[in-house]
Formats: sequence, structure tokens, C-alpha cells
Amino acid sequence: NRRRLVIGNWKMHGTQAGNATLLDGLRSGASMADDRDVAVCVPFPYIPQASTLLQGSGITWGAQDVSMHAQGAYTGEVSAAMLADFACKLVLVGHSERRSMHGESDKLVADKAVAALGAGITPVICVGETLEEQQAGQTKDIIARQLAPVLALGAQKLAHVVLAYEPVWAIGTGLSATPEQAQEVHAFIRDRLAGQGSAHVRILYGGSVKPDNAASLFAMPDIDGALVGGASLKAQDFLHIAAAA
Ligand code: 13P
Repeated sequence: NRRRLVIGNWKMHGTQAGNATLLDGLRSGASMADDRDVAVCVPFPYIPQASTLLQGSGITWGAQDVSMHAQGAYTGEVSAAMLADFACKLVLVGHSERRSMHGESDKLVADKAVAALGAGITPVICVGETLEEQQAGQTKDIIARQLAPVLALGAQKLAHVVLAYEPVWAIGTGLSATPEQAQEVHAFIRDRLAGQGSAHVRILYGGSVKPDNAASLFAMPDIDGALVGGASLKAQDFLHIAAAA
């Protein structure tokens, strides 16, 4: 009985005018958020706009990254307390784009998750293998390595996190993992968590989730929702995916 969760990751897209249209569209279709969780993770400057336009809609908002530090001389960083100040409910940590382009380590990602938890914000911890790793048959080894510092946080913290499996080869490529492929990795992640008594932790799938493949992914027993990139930029598509969850 894990509550379904669908998150839009806008990545580095948007303008105030365009966001207003998108957020209004989401707001008007938000009734399905009564029996599932729906959220958008927007670029930092647009968090106040999301908060204003989604207030009371049932759809929540969050950020795409957070500092591991509480405060101080960290130019360009944004703290979890700042996100909480704008009523962010969740934050992505360890997205593959940050791991690969900003050198984020498995340990740093876990530290960011701890920072989020400390501010009462749900970290959505992203893991996933590259195409080369998948082709070399290393998927589970990579996921296990990425998860290790997360599992080390212990059951009490793990109870409050969300995990997202995003195979790098499926992100932005239009080539989603098949439901069976994703389920196999989700079951592997679930199995790792089981030792921590956290069978209720939600595991989302991300990577080319679209209106036409969402339902088949959500039909898998260990897929509890989705982390949606490109399709979250169109209200209709995102709502369609959320409705399928
Ligand atoms: P796409 O849905 O565009 O493949 O992006 C997935 C993703 O990276 C979400 O975080």
C-alpha cells in the first residue's frame, strides 16, 4: 500500500510566462492528486512562482538539487532550510546529470539526502547505470555501489526517503526501459532495502516516461510512480501520466 508518486523534473527549462501557463494547466487538472502524490521540481528561481500558483492545489513543489551544507560561505549553493522556507516538500538528489556533469559522488549524494531530511524535506535519491555499464552487465553492481552510502543512513532515515531508478541510457532518449527491465532493478533495490525494514519506501522509475508507456510501467509490482523529464513540460502529458499512476 505504497501511495503512488509522480514527479515532474523540469530540469533547466522555463520562463515566468511559460511556467504560468504550465502551472495553471496542472492546477486545473489536479483533482487526481487526492489519492496519489503529484509534484514538480522546478529551477530554483521559480520556486516562489510554483508555490504561489500551486498553493492549495494538492500538487506540491520542490527543487532539483540542494547543498549538503546548512549555511555559510558556499557561493552558489542553496540550503535545505531555504527550500523549506519556500515550503518545498521534496528535492532531487544525485540526478545522473549532476553525478556526471558536476562530479557528485555516492557519498555526497547521501550527505545531501541527510541535509534535506534535516529540514523536513523528502530527498528523492536518484540512481542508475550508463549504457556502457548496462552493456557490460554491471547494472546491479553500479546500483549497489550508488546505494551503499544511502543504506548506511539506517532504517530511521530510510523510512523518509524516496528512491528513483533512472537508467542513464533511457533519459531523454525516448528509449524507456521496458516494464520488465525496470521491475527487475526495482526488485533488486527493494531487496537491498528489505534488510532495513523499509519495504514501504517508494521507488520511482524515470527515463522517457510518456503518456503511452506510463500505465505499463505502473503495472509492475515494485514501480511506485515516475520521475518525468520532458513530458512534464506539457500539462496534458504530465497529468495523463499522473492519472495513470
Ligand atoms: P526524460 O523523461 O526526459 O527522459 O527525463 C527523465 C529524467 O531525467 C527525470 O529526472
